[in-house]
Amino acid sequence: MTFKTLDDIGDVTGKAVLVREDLNVPMADGVVTDDTRLRATVATLNELSDKGAKVLVLAHFGRPKGQPSEEFSLKKLAGPLSQVLGRAVSFIDWEGDKEAVAALQAGDIAILENTRFFGGEEKNDPAVVERFASLGDFYVNDAFSAAHRAHASTEGLAHVLPAFAGRAMEAELTALEKALGKPEHPVAAVVGGAKVSTKLDVLKHLVGKVDHLIIGGGMANTFLAARGVAVGKSLCEHDLTATADEILDNADKAGCTVHLPYDVVVSKEFAANPPSLRTCNVHEVAADEMILDVGPTAVEALADVLKTCKTLVWNGPMGAFETEPFDTATVALARTAAALTKEGSLVSVAGGGDTVAALNHAGVGGDFSYVSTAGGAFLEWMEGKELPGVAALGA
Ligand code: ADP
Ligand code: MG
Repeated sequence: MTFKTLDDIGDVTGKAVLVREDLNVPMADGVVTDDTRLRATVATLNELSDKGAKVLVLAHFGRPKGQPSEEFSLKKLAGPLSQVLGRAVSFIDWEGDKEAVAALQAGDIAILENTRFFGGEEKNDPAVVERFASLGDFYVNDAFSAAHRAHASTEGLAHVLPAFAGRAMEAELTALEKALGKPEHPVAAVVGGAKVSTKLDVLKHLVGKVDHLIIGGGMANTFLAARGVAVGKSLCEHDLTATADEILDNADKAGCTVHLPYDVVVSKEFAANPPSLRTCNVHEVAADEMILDVGPTAVEALADVLKTCKTLVWNGPMGAFETEPFDTATVALARTAAALTKEGSLVSVAGGGDTVAALNHAGVGGDFSYVSTAGGAFLEWMEGKELPGVAALGA
């Protein structure tokens, strides 16, 4: 896909640029507890400020349901954003916004109040789109994580103002394009996590796209059950075994090799280092045992698969990684992928809330080619869906 970036925006000196960012950060007692999303705004906001634009940050915060409230006001983020940007950030309320914007100087940065204080934001109401557009000369969308929603500030604005991708959006789209859009083959996908039901569309899409589909985590149990393996007390969606079979058939037709574990780590209770812990072949799981991680022999074979691949896309941990030693397979495979990436033989892209946590736990979050923190938008992209906020930027 083609889209315009800040390289194409031209002279913005003294112009008002509306920049959609994701400021929906977790907070506790008025303090930002994870500033990842704020740090993602730095490149775009400071570049536009340096170019002499009046930078107007558009964002939502929480779910205010179209009603203004102190609880969901973005006022409290001006301070934290200012600290991360290393420059002043003012706040502009929806009352008196026109005058406040007119009073800004070239290079100033201001956060506009929560876009969701307008009920029409989430409905992509043309009146709200116009309301936002009347404040700016240009629109920059820098919030990939909100791009799966067709809202006034994420999609509508791109149709009424000259529209550009911000630097974070550009980096995300470039990485995703390399991983699944036009990847170098062979491509491997690792799909893990708890349940098949949450990732059915991901699995269905990937079998037609990748050369190797590596299934781990709880969802592997459903696939094993579909192949007639007794999985004991493991997390398993027995009502989805027919669907799992269908996915395996489609993979076969598409020439996609599906890798299921052939040894596993099991225990009778779900606890850290339980006394009943053991490793066995998938055909030897007892009725009172549950599968909590992929076994070492399978991990070695999977590492060999990755060594033959040029591209990797990863969503979902291979085991119940929050509890030791069920993090072993995830950590080992993540480190293999990171090492291959460092050597330059693999382009590796990962995403998903727990996946990001698992990669950081393995100490390799920084060693993948790209790690997406976008959550819902990342999964929809893995499902092969067109994201409205991205499509609206398409030239
Ligand atoms: P993501 O957030 O990266 O998309 P998911 O939410 O789909 O990932 O899955 C993560 C969860 O899956 C983790 O909490 C992990 O403990 C769980 N999980 C992985 N393997 C198993 C397993 N064998 N049995 C039970 N839970 C598992
Ligand atoms: Mg999750």
